[in-house]
This record gives sequence, C-alpha cells and structure tokens, in this order.
Amino acid sequence: MNKLDTERQKEIQQAEELLFAGPQALGFAKGLFQGRFVADWVMPYPRIPAAQQTELDKSLAELRRFLDEHLNPVEIDRQADIPREVIDGLGRVGVLGATAPVEHGGLGFTQMANCKLLEEIGTRCASTSVFVNAHHSIGIRALLLFGTNSQKEKWLPRLVNGEQLGAFALTEREAGSDAANVQMQACPSADGSYFILNGEKRYITNAAIAQVLTVMARTPVPGSDKTAITAFLVTPDMPGFTILEARMPKMGIRGTATGRFTLRDVKVPKENILGPMGKGLKVALTVLDFGRTTFGACCTGAAKTCLRLAIEHARTRKQFNKTLGEFELVKKKIARIAAGAYAMEAMTTATASLIDRGLEDYMVETAMLKVFTTERLWEIINDTFQIYGGSAYFVDLPLERMLRDARINQIGEGSNEVLTSFIALVGMRGPGMEFKEIYDTMMKPSRDRMGKAWSAGKNRLGAAIRIPDVPVRSEQLHTTARQLGRLIWRFNFAVNRALITYREPILDMQLVQERIADAAMDLFASTCVLSRWDAELQFARRNGDSASADDSAADLFLRQSFRRIRRFLGELNDNDDKALLATAKSFLGKPSS
Ligand SMILES: Cc1cc2nc3c(=O)[nH]c(=O)nc-3n(C[C@H](O)[C@H](O)[C@H](O)COP(=O)(O)OP(=O)(O)OC[C@H]3O[C@@H](n4cnc5c(N)ncnc54)[C@H](O)[C@@H]3O)c2cc1C
Repeated sequence: MNKLDTERQKEIQQAEELLFAGPQALGFAKGLFQGRFVADWVMPYPRIPAAQQTELDKSLAELRRFLDEHLNPVEIDRQADIPREVIDGLGRVGVLGATAPVEHGGLGFTQMANCKLLEEIGTRCASTSVFVNAHHSIGIRALLLFGTNSQKEKWLPRLVNGEQLGAFALTEREAGSDAANVQMQACPSADGSYFILNGEKRYITNAAIAQVLTVMARTPVPGSDKTAITAFLVTPDMPGFTILEARMPKMGIRGTATGRFTLRDVKVPKENILGPMGKGLKVALTVLDFGRTTFGACCTGAAKTCLRLAIEHARTRKQFNKTLGEFELVKKKIARIAAGAYAMEAMTTATASLIDRGLEDYMVETAMLKVFTTERLWEIINDTFQIYGGSAYFVDLPLERMLRDARINQIGEGSNEVLTSFIALVGMRGPGMEFKEIYDTMMKPSRDRMGKAWSAGKNRLGAAIRIPDVPVRSEQLHTTARQLGRLIWRFNFAVNRALITYREPILDMQLVQERIADAAMDLFASTCVLSRWDAELQFARRNGDSASADDSAADLFLRQSFRRIRRFLGELNDNDDKALLATAKSFLGKPSS
C-alpha cells in the first residue's frame, strides 16, 4: 500500500471512528455490502405509532389550511423573500420545532412524522421547504442533538416557535465539498472563558435573518500544533459579526436568504460550544444526516406535485385529435414519474425510521436517500416539463420555477458526486478489511492473526455461497423477493471481485465506485418499495380491497430498478472507462499544482 493509500484508509477510518464509538448493530446498507439482508431495519414497513399519527394528522390539517390561505410560491419567488407572516404562521403550526422536545416548546415528533410535514411543504414551495430545513433540520439540529440542558433551556424556546431563526454555517471558500478544510479560526482567550473567532462563511441559508447560527471553526488541539473543528453558537449581535451580503441573487429557491458573513475578533463565550471540543466534524456530519432525510421528504413532495400536474395535462391537452396521454411516449413518462414518486416516499419513510428506531450508524442510508431522491426529482421535473411542451417555459405555470428550484438539490448538503464516492467507500470498508485480514495472514502467518483471518474468511465465504432471504408476507411478492435476494448476492460478488481485482487503488477509482454505489442505491430503493408494497397488499387483503394504481407503480419501479442493477454490475466489466479517462486527460492536461 503506498503512502497516499494508507493516508486515505486512515482518513476513512478516522471519519468513522469520529462518528461512531463502540460496536454497533449492523445497518441495512452496510449489510448489503456484506451480502446480507438485515431485514429487521426495513421490514415490516415502518408505521407511525397510532397516538402520534393522530397528532400528525392534526398538525398536517392545520399546516394545509395555513398554506392554502397564506403561502404564495409565485410571489415568494418573484419578491425573493418569504414574508414574515408566513414564517410566523409556520412557527404557530409547530413546523419550526417539530422534532424538538415538548418541554422546550416543540411538538416532540419523530423524524418520520417530521418528514410528512416537510413533504407537504415540498409539494408547494421549495423556497419554503429549504428555509424550514435550514432552520430546523440543520440550523437548530446541533443544539437539539448535542446541546447541554442549560443550552437547550436558554436557546430552544424562542427558536422552536420561530420568534428566532437558526442557520447552519459550515461552507467557506476553501471548505465546500471538502468540509473538513474549514479555515475559520477560534482561539481561546488567555483565561479560557471565551474564544476569538475570525474568518468568513459563504452560501449560508438564513445567515442574515437568523438570530442563532451554528458556526464551525478550528480550535487548537491541546498539547499539539494541530487544530480540529469545533461547533459554536454565534449570535449576530456579537461585536465583529458583519453580514457581507444578505441575499446573494440566485437562480432558484429565490425566497431563501443565502448570505455571506465575516467574523472579526468575535468573542464567543465557552458556554456556546456545542458538543465536545474538537468534534465539530462529527457534529456537522450528524446534523447533515438529518438534513438529508428531510431533503428526501421535500423532493418527494415536489415529485407528487409533478405527478399531479403531468396527469392533468396528459388527460386534457389534445394534439392529433388525441389526448397526450394516449401517446406511448407520454405514457412512458407518466409511468416513470409515478414509479419514482412511489419509491422516493418509501425510501424517505424507511430512512427516517432508522433514525427513530435508534440505529446509530445511518450515514450511508441518508447519503443514498439524498442522492437517489435528488437525481430522481430532477428527471421527474424534466419529464413533466416535456409533457407540458412550450407552455412549461412560461412563468404562469410552476414548472420553470420548480426546475430552477430543484437544481440546488444535487449540489447542497454534500454534492452527489462526493456522496456517491462516500457510499461506495464506506460500504466497501467492511468486506475490504476482511480481505486485508486474510491477505496479510497469508503473507505473514501468525497465531494472533489466524483467528481473525479465519472469521473474516468464513464471512466472505458465507456471503459468497448464501443467497440472502428477503422475507415478504404477500404470496404474490415471493418471486420478486427472491429476485432481490439474488441481486444482493450478485452485488456482493461484484464488490468482492472489485476489491480483489483493484485492491487499494479502488480508493481513487470513482468510475468503479459510482457503479457500486448506484447498484447499492437501487438495492436499497427496491427494498423500501418492496417493503411498502408488501404492507399495502397486507392492508388491502385485510380490508378486502382490490389492486390499486400504486401496485403498478411499485411493480414497474422494481422491474426497472432490477434492470438498472444488472446494468451497473455488468458495466463493472464491460465499459469505456479507459477511453473516457484518456479523453478527459487529453483535454484537461496535467493538473496544476
Ligand atoms: C443556495 C445554497 C444554499 C446553501 N446553504 C448552505 C447552508 O445553509 N450552510 C452551509 O454550510 N452551506 C450551504 N451551502 C453550500 C453548499 O453546501 C455547497 O455549495 C456544497 O457543499 C458544494 O460546495 P462548493 O459549492 O464549494 O462546490 P465545490 O466543492 O467546489 O465542488 C464543485 C463540484 O465539484 C465536484 N466535486 C467536488 N469534490 C469532488 C470529489 N471529491 N469527487 C468528485 N467530484 C467532486 C462536484 O460535482 C461538485 O458539485 C449552500 C449552497 C447553495 C448554492
């Protein structure tokens, strides 16, 4: 292993150690990479407990009433502002503190219930859903997760009702995708009672309208010349806090206030540190896990709006003496939108439930959800746009706004490329370490190593010969479940083969990583769809209902998803990677140092 590879291995390991201490239960996604189907996390399909469902129904009804009467997405986009009365109303309904504990004024909702609220907002206005996400899903999340009791008592009550707003400030010029490269400095005062913060943040949603900002800055590591990231609560009334640009003019989600600010010798009391000193990266990454879950919910809402719009137009617009819906190429789009929206909802629900049920390590699933739902929504809006033809291009219909609004999704909260690579690398780490154990023992056998290598060998061999069982209750889904089990087995085989063939260089082979991550995402999405469909069939059977439109959407999704998985795995061996890389090299030239 060369020095660079060793460093990379160390970085991934450190990131995981930083996030999760001690042994944890095997999650669903990591299980897939081991050739296992960890059914308990995804089957039966999660349901909101009856008592909370009643509360949620009440909140949803109130939210819908409020949005019907007061939310005007066209004006929000045109004025590039969300009116204060909308923010106040969202606060009154409880959306701005839905998952905060009741004792601090929140609704005490689970992440699953919270996702339903965000989905509802997402069906109507992306500016508003991103605003709520920035405030609640990430802005005050660090306080909710890592705040001490006294910090929560002090800050939360006014944040959860919207009297005050929150923001999450990680991004800087040098720290975009490379989030660990934060340059903002936080130096302790001589007596240690406060920290002096210096630096600049950019692209921060709510920066200029927030009263409380979670800010990431570098603090010295005692006893060394190193620094580490720490999370601070910063308020704009602190001397030295300056907004450089309150609302950077932008393409989409124009109602949100995306800003830049600078901190010059800002004194922040040590009581404002969130979470342990030097563990700000853990804080940031955990916060983003929550953000990515509600991202999925907002995208699902927008996808449902597209489905409704596409059906309306396909049923009414006539050309060649036929409605558009009579043409197969339009039918193809409607079916694809319906299947995508069904899968997005299933995946969001299943991922949110992992958080609610206490799985500690869900970072691969939230990354999968974010990439899958944002990519699907982009295609879905494009399909809907196409069905509307020229009319979609004009501003009296919502589609041009939806298209502009959706483009940020593939970039924000971790660009999809970075997350795709992350999914593959974190997923492959488990089997990769097992192969390393076996290889090292073969090269340098020792009594110490034998035991570990034996158990690693047993795991790898077990996964190679055993097709995982996918337990569904509905008889009519048994064949599909068996197909999914076989695909997981094939996936594991492909992962093993890639690890053995490429060894350490795989850490930099993003084209290989992408196929593995894409296959894993479709396996997860298919599992969520199958689980949801199974639950719906069971429910219909108990009530004597017949087949619904959702059955066909689920069936189509699974067929297309299985086909994609086979293609991704096939392309691991049959591809144009060499030509692609050679072409890029000849155009890019040598990287500048
Ligand atoms: C409207 C808006 C709102 C935002 N709100 C917030 C907020 O509230 N808080 C906050 O902290 N930040 C926020 N951001 C910042 C956002 O999270 C960053 O823009 C994002 O992380 C990407 O960073 P970057 O823009 O610097 O792009 P870069 O890091 O320069 O990346 C550019 C592109 O390069 C590619 N790329 C980068 N690294 C890799 C890699 N390792 N492998 C392959 N490809 C790669 C990707 O395609 C990526 O899209 C917001 C941004 C926008 C536009």
